[in-house]
Amino acid sequence: MRLSCFPLVFFLLAVCFSIPLVAADPLPPPVDLIVTNARLYTMNPQHKWAEAIAIRGEKIVAAGDRKSIEAMRGPATKVIDADQHMVLPGFTDCHIHFMDGSLGLTRVDLNDSKTIEEIQKRVKAYADAHPNEPWIQGMGWTYPTFGGSALPNKKILDEVVPDRPVYLVAFDGHSSWANSKALAMAGIDRNTADPPNGKIVRDEKGEATGALKEAAGDLVAAKVPKPTRAERLEALRKGIHEANKAGLVRVHSAGQDFEYLDLYNELRKNGELTLRFYVAYFLDPPGLTPESIALIESARRQYNDDWISGGGVKTMLDGVVEAHTAAMLEPYSDDPTLSGKLFWDPGKYKETIADLDARGFQIFTHAIGDQAVRLALDAYQNAATVNHTKDRRPRIEHIETISAQDIDRFGKLGVIASMQPLHSYPDEDTLEIWARNIGPERAKRAWVWHSIEDTGGALAFGSDWPVVTLNPWRGVQTALTRQTDEGKPEYGFVPQQRLSLDDTLRAYTIGAAFAGHREKTEGSIETGKLADLIVLDRNLYKIEPTEIGKTEVLMTMVGGKVVYESPNWKSPAVTEKK
Ligand SMILES: [Zn+2]
Repeated sequence: MRLSCFPLVFFLLAVCFSIPLVAADPLPPPVDLIVTNARLYTMNPQHKWAEAIAIRGEKIVAAGDRKSIEAMRGPATKVIDADQHMVLPGFTDCHIHFMDGSLGLTRVDLNDSKTIEEIQKRVKAYADAHPNEPWIQGMGWTYPTFGGSALPNKKILDEVVPDRPVYLVAFDGHSSWANSKALAMAGIDRNTADPPNGKIVRDEKGEATGALKEAAGDLVAAKVPKPTRAERLEALRKGIHEANKAGLVRVHSAGQDFEYLDLYNELRKNGELTLRFYVAYFLDPPGLTPESIALIESARRQYNDDWISGGGVKTMLDGVVEAHTAAMLEPYSDDPTLSGKLFWDPGKYKETIADLDARGFQIFTHAIGDQAVRLALDAYQNAATVNHTKDRRPRIEHIETISAQDIDRFGKLGVIASMQPLHSYPDEDTLEIWARNIGPERAKRAWVWHSIEDTGGALAFGSDWPVVTLNPWRGVQTALTRQTDEGKPEYGFVPQQRLSLDDTLRAYTIGAAFAGHREKTEGSIETGKLADLIVLDRNLYKIEPTEIGKTEVLMTMVGGKVVYESPNWKSPAVTEKK
């Protein structure tokens, strides 16, 4: 009776639940790879945590509990035991200058050099190690090293390298520093006039001191031999390694990489590309020409897949607060004769934005001062209105200051706030120069990521490497704490703008994917998305925020392939079922 009932029950069930009565589909083929025994934070709000993930080819088949995922194992499935480590979607850096940063890796690195002696030591060590290098180049020195508003002097470099030219760019790219040999080779002497938009700093006798502001640095830079194609490729290999090591799986290049797309493509063809690139064309005033339109169009046609894509356009509306070149609605607090200056004529900028929007390009606008931020918002609003376009996701890069009335416009207009947490790091440069220049009232609205998100705006985070390190973990920590590593200021710099860990991780993963129109294929650990993920040495949810900056990435996977493993990654890497 029981048995004979079964077919009827089954039939009724099948009708109710639409189970096909014909034989079920054969079992899906086993997966290629399983990462198991992990604390997977998926960035999928429906299933925040998982224990294991199954991967076939480049894509995620499923994420879930160990049992259900391990059931997909076949004889050829490789298994990675994550040993209870935290696993996250790979990070995207939404604002990077990749070629510049990569070339910097082959030169003197002055990041975190805090004393003149340290700089001399690094320059000399590099010169000694590269006896055949005709020029010694480097980047990353900071202003406080030379005390307050003083600038570096050529004699410091002459002491360690008298016989070869030395050329060192400041961390922000707005000043540079040359030794006597480099000044002589550039023909800079007491009679050399300052170039437009630049200043040769001179002593009381009128001699160049070696410090060069803004465009004056170009006088020396023009004499430096250009890197060869082979040198650029070698630099990119190093840059890609550093990026994967830091946990990056994609970058949004914000200028100066567009002209090297073929180099990225060459690496891809050689199987050496392990980082995904979204590259923007850099557009200066006066704006588009038939030639530039043809260039951007052809890059968009040629590069439009998961690895390399064109179709973005970056432009700059202003400079930086520290140099009083960020465009402000009201004069600077420390010098009321200055309020910065827009790089574009506002009418021409708006017209260009509307044109780019009509052509379907995603626009990145560098805007740091509150006047520049407002103009970018106005131009995006105008473009959407005149073109009747939706969901273009135009972006504003940096947004260091903002008028209170503009904050909720990001959400209302669907404009992405692309910000770099480490730029707000409250060191001397930020608190004594940046904050002094704009004054306490405007400094209350410094890097307002929390307010932008609260009012419905989408955040996308990045580094601006080589301005600061490409290591995102220091950025994550700064977004959470708004404090230095030493815990200063005590309650944080504009502490109401601190973000939660959830929101910060989102801005580097699914938010970053959204900013690049890739949220359907990237940014979270979900079925069907690209298998881009990272294993961390610590569970970010179990530690103090002040420990996050020291996070080490143990393993990075891009498109289902392990592209980086730390020497500290002791997990039984990849095992095959016997
Ligand atoms: Zn930048």
